Amino acid sequence: AGVRLRAALDGLPSYRPGRPAAAPAAGGPARAFKVSSNENPYPPLPGVMEAVADAAAELNRYPDMFAGRLVDALADRLEVPPAHLATGTGSVGVLQQVIQACAAEGDEIVYAWRSFEAYPIVVGISGATSVRVPLTPDARHDLDAMAEAVTERTRLVLVCSPNNPTGPAAGREEIRAFVERVPKDVLIVVDEAYREFVRDPDAVDGIELYREHPNVCVLRTFSKAYGLAGLRVGFAIAHDVVADALRKTAVPFGVSGVAQAAAVASLEREPELIARVDTLVAERARVVDSLRDQGWRIPHTQANFVWLALGERTDEFAAKCAESGLVVRPFAGEGCRVTVAEPEANDTFLRITAEWAGGNG
Ligand code: PMP
Repeated sequence: AGVRLRAALDGLPSYRPGRPAAAPAAGGPARAFKVSSNENPYPPLPGVMEAVADAAAELNRYPDMFAGRLVDALADRLEVPPAHLATGTGSVGVLQQVIQACAAEGDEIVYAWRSFEAYPIVVGISGATSVRVPLTPDARHDLDAMAEAVTERTRLVLVCSPNNPTGPAAGREEIRAFVERVPKDVLIVVDEAYREFVRDPDAVDGIELYREHPNVCVLRTFSKAYGLAGLRVGFAIAHDVVADALRKTAVPFGVSGVAQAAAVASLEREPELIARVDTLVAERARVVDSLRDQGWRIPHTQANFVWLALGERTDEFAAKCAESGLVVRPFAGEGCRVTVAEPEANDTFLRITAEWAGGNG
């Protein structure tokens, strides 16, 4: 007999990362673009690189375990008390801390589906039961159905806004009504990994919601808008009881000193970074408008990606993209998620979709 593992892991996949862009083959496309992981296409700012180099000089020491400088900078920036902030190894690391704090075998965690692929995995690892509520036909959270799915065993509800991989953000008023319906002892986690890309004035701002409700916890990240995916820094904004618990369930020293320094340096350079985000948002509008002109039905995305519902032809489309050097993210049988990136990558994408729509639409 081999090693006995927890039954909760049976059949659980490991997280599947987006494929890297392949080196261009002879006779193939001139450039390859990785648009499979919703990364920021722009490299770190020089000042951020300098902060990283300076912090690297202290790699023989453990970092500040609770990221004090970063927490203070965030507290200032977001106008929340430092005690209401907890950091972690990417926001997916923070999500794991949240789930460990709230749920285990016998408990239920409600979330929308299709949504972020890590949800079933982190819930599964905890031993809690996933309760998945289908999205609406226009690829939004069905918050009424989610409220109805809450039982006395529910410990946590996850709201992904904007939703990965479909793109729509939850509405401010619909989520307010939703929070009123959920019992006060159930934690509502609003995963806002893409919040900085939201431009719809009616979309929820998780921090507004957190200020009104002690059972709301907001997750944010430096991976997307701030372009630090490789450094793994995420954080939660939550009231004392929850934030204290997240510090307890954190992996000790999970956010490296280099990562902390880069995050602080990024906050100091926020206007430059937000200007890049504005460029990506403008590109998003161009991509979405062009796709609709080509005849595609595209959900109302507020994130740095678009969703093509391709059904059974998903893998075929992804293969066609790969031939042109574009690495997209297929979800077999459902659709492809494509990151809005630099104009050249977006142009390549739009050329492929035009051909596809022309030949098949
Ligand atoms: N939440 C959502 C909705 C995401 O799409 C992602 C990244 N794909 C994350 C959280 C995790 O990001 P990170 O761990 O890099 O902060």
